[in-house]
Amino acid sequence: MPPGILARLAAGDFYNRRMLLGLWTSVRQLLLPAHCAACGASAPVERRLPLCERCGETLAKLIATEHCPLCGRNAGPYTSGPEGCYFCREYPVRFDAAVRVGPYEDPLRRLILRCKKERRAEIGQMLGRLLAERLALAPWADLVDVIVPVPLHWTRRLGRGFNQAEVLAHALARAICRKARRRLARVRPTPHQTGLPSSDRHENVRGAFAVRRGAAALEGKRVLLVDDVMTSGTTMDECTRALKKAGARDVYVAVVATADYDDPWA
Ligand SMILES: [Zn+2]
Ligand SMILES: [Zn+2]
Repeated sequence: MPPGILARLAAGDFYNRRMLLGLWTSVRQLLLPAHCAACGASAPVERRLPLCERCGETLAKLIATEHCPLCGRNAGPYTSGPEGCYFCREYPVRFDAAVRVGPYEDPLRRLILRCKKERRAEIGQMLGRLLAERLALAPWADLVDVIVPVPLHWTRRLGRGFNQAEVLAHALARAICRKARRRLARVRPTPHQTGLPSSDRHENVRGAFAVRRGAAALEGKRVLLVDDVMTSGTTMDECTRALKKAGARDVYVAVVATADYDDPWA
């Protein structure tokens, strides 16, 4: 600790903000050496996102990739427009529009997995803030009335200790000065979608979601549905079905990443 700081603190010089910030940074560096939240390499403590240079650059490239404004999947200039991409023309989605941070690739994939499997809520909060930045670019962003996380069945929530979609939804809501509400419930446990073909994924989640009691507030509202990863879109479709049945006017989707069917980890 630089000499004199204790004496100045003791003398009541609590308003020297620079001094206190410098002290806090030194203590933090001492106690918590900064590591990249994605790959674990050392990272500069002052960075806005706790990522090393390499992961930060790769993440910026992922964020810059185009996505379809309707279904959120990877899209190029010739495969996507206001009417959607090849995928959503072939398999129409129930929701009205979608945003994502990027495709399900490292370092985004690692961040999502660490948040979920290691229960790292602070990573979820960081991803939620990134999602809020992407949401701000959507032409419908200001129309959103309610932010709703995709629910886990209570048995899985109990086992995992937290629902990553809720962490994301709350962080996103805070960033845009709104509230996230648990308006949906997963009324039956569903096996993981991982590895299931598209047709089975539909069957797997059909009727799995319902609005919670007291969700009459959804009537005529524009809902933003939040989750970490979207693969086939069937979970979001089923949630949309339940929300629209309860009177929601529009349902928009915000996910951290969209994955391809053949991704074994999605
Ligand atoms: Zn890294
Ligand atoms: Zn599409």
